[in-house]
Amino acid sequence: MAGLGNIYVCEALWRARISPRRQAGTIKGERAERLASAVRNVIAEAIEAGGSTLRDYAGADGALGYFQHRFDAYGREGQPCRGAVAGSRCGKPIIRIVQQGRSTFHCPKCQR
Ligand SMILES: [Zn+2]
Repeated sequence: MAGLGNIYVCEALWRARISPRRQAGTIKGERAERLASAVRNVIAEAIEAGGSTLRDYAGADGALGYFQHRFDAYGREGQPCRGAVAGSRCGKPIIRIVQQGRSTFHCPKCQR
């Protein structure tokens, strides 16, 4: 996932229902296809929404505003798991974990 912004990684993993705790090398077959497709969609939508680069916006609170309403996982700690694109999800609270110094948001129920 190197080179992808943290936000996009969180969103793509959420859509693909893959846990961020999973080692990259263990994502194979149908899971890998789901993830690749989710990454493409997330990036396409971000560009459509006005994001011209894949820079990570996590550091700048102000910069989050424009994209924030589109996030399903990122920045939604404690809020119910839901899907603007994928339809309704489980409704359990999104949790935040820290990986390599970065906050990662995910649903522990949907994402395996
Ligand atoms: Zn969920």
